[in-house]
Amino acid sequence: MLQIAEIFYTIQGEGTWTGTPAVFVRLAGCNLSCDFCDTDYSLKRVMSLADVVAAVRDASPTCPMVVLTGGEPFAQAESLALVDALRRDGRRVHIESNGTIAAPLPADVWLCVSPKERVDARMAARANEAKLIVDDRVPEEHLSLFPHLSTVLLQPEGNKARNVRIAMEYAQAHPERFRLSLQTHKFIGIP
Ligand code: SF4
Repeated sequence: MLQIAEIFYTIQGEGTWTGTPAVFVRLAGCNLSCDFCDTDYSLKRVMSLADVVAAVRDASPTCPMVVLTGGEPFAQAESLALVDALRRDGRRVHIESNGTIAAPLPADVWLCVSPKERVDARMAARANEAKLIVDDRVPEEHLSLFPHLSTVLLQPEGNKARNVRIAMEYAQAHPERFRLSLQTHKFIGIP
């Protein structure tokens, strides 16, 4: 069984795939408790794998992209089985993870790792995308985890003006590798 916070059809508001229609499956619970966390990942429903796949179909029968997010998706034992079930149902699975829990993933799964206090090196090495949260500073200590990524995203925490300025100035000072990632869904008031 899976502990679910919410399932909804929206657009991906941040990162490489910004603007892409996607069904989001927010898994409940997280193994970290970051000071700045503003995500409601509390448990709303306990669902079987089949029920989650059906709920994704209800949200959108045709959308190719399904984002598993949290909380921390890999904090749940059945998250890998959910990845497989969604792939079998014809979805392209994207995962947003804090990277602390190692999980073997099929090659066609897009993995975004957003490091917080610690990261499992295997997850960092598997990441297709690295999203560093800028909260008064760029957390440069995480950069050595992602030598294979030519682009690193800098995401200002809470879209706050000071964090936007720090992230933007850093990207402008290192334009060959860094890119600003804004939470665009918050601008237009969608989840
Ligand atoms: S890892 Fe993400 S979801 Fe978990 S507490 Fe930190 S910011 Fe919130």
